[in-house]
Amino acid sequence: MIPFSPPRIDQRIIDEVTDTLRSGWITTGPKTKRFEKELSSYYGASASLCLNSATAGLELMLRWFGVGPGDEVILPAYTYSATANVVMHCGAKPVFVDVRSDFNIDPEAIRRAITPRTKVLMPVDFGGWPCDYDALNAIVNDSSVKAQFIPSSEEQQKLGRILLLSDAAHSLGARYKGRLTGSLADVSVFSFHAVKNLTTAEGGAIALNFPAPFDNQSIYQQLCIKSLHGQNKDALAKMQKGNWRYDIVEPGYKMNMTDIMASIGLVELSRYESETLPKRHHVCQRYTELLKQYDWAILPQQMLTNHTVSSFHLYPLRIHGVDENGRDEIIRLISEKDVSVNVHFIPVPMMSFYKNQGYSITDYPTTYKLYAAEISLPVYFDLTDAQISTVVEAVVDSVKNVLK
Ligand SMILES: *Cc1c(COP(=O)(O)O)cnc(C)c1O
Repeated sequence: MIPFSPPRIDQRIIDEVTDTLRSGWITTGPKTKRFEKELSSYYGASASLCLNSATAGLELMLRWFGVGPGDEVILPAYTYSATANVVMHCGAKPVFVDVRSDFNIDPEAIRRAITPRTKVLMPVDFGGWPCDYDALNAIVNDSSVKAQFIPSSEEQQKLGRILLLSDAAHSLGARYKGRLTGSLADVSVFSFHAVKNLTTAEGGAIALNFPAPFDNQSIYQQLCIKSLHGQNKDALAKMQKGNWRYDIVEPGYKMNMTDIMASIGLVELSRYESETLPKRHHVCQRYTELLKQYDWAILPQQMLTNHTVSSFHLYPLRIHGVDENGRDEIIRLISEKDVSVNVHFIPVPMMSFYKNQGYSITDYPTTYKLYAAEISLPVYFDLTDAQISTVVEAVVDSVKNVLK
């Protein structure tokens, strides 16, 4: 059985976790703080806050910005539902827009979707391929777009425009014009969920890059409090001699990362550039080499150009000439050969809850077209070349059976 995306758990990870367990400090503490600093210096952000998930990070930023009922948040229809659910949690309205053929949000469609109620633009770096951040930053800074913006919180007043909040769940280590994701938007949120490129079992990080006059360090402090009950001291600070007294300054959330999680992240980050990214690149390249001879294979066009490099999170293959049912049948046949594949994603407007809210996939034709023919192939560190060949054989046989 070839799994889809198992984590890389080796002796180094086990040793680092064991070290934390033996240290006597297992919740948020020195390792989480070190992981935050190492992440910031890796991708070039002013500050990073580690949390228990990317979902928590996205919601925390929407709440921090004062997003609520009557507000609109623009996001791609082609994403995992977490991106939309957090908008619902805040009582705001998700405004879906279609994607382009590279699976990423269409800047032209964004412009058409902006209204005076738009507070946040939440693009997704699908599969690890960075969005066109020059275009996205140009939209939120466009003088006619800014003129429409109606601030309703202190932070909105201070920013004076739509917040660019990147769902970078897939794209740690991806490059756009020489810079890494995490440094390309006001805020970027990474996921360290078990299937992501870098995992801490569950987990996420917020990368802060607000322009002046914001002070990213003080936003970091505010977010620490908001993500830990609204308590003005964390557990480590309270441990200091005689420092037991604390206050609750707001009804905060409980979203913190533990040092057990951070210990996995520290090991993974230390070998991310030298081992993880090159291996993922190799796997994707190998798929392309083996599949390019088939005229039914629509290969992911964009993983590497002069100025943009993917983090190789997904290998989204598409099958030319199949509809959704044909694709599903191909996946059934592939699974019978003990190879795990997946579909990224079932578009959010196709989910029962969102359909019941009145959304319809027919409004997002490119999203549907890409989804209906998409099959994601396994990409993970321990995948061998022999297994890559097995995956490709399973795909080729299955496609031939359905297309015949
Ligand atoms: C995984 C994922 C998330 C959520 O990440 P968690 O850390 O599981 O909360 C959000 N957006 C996208 C696009 C994802 O793939």
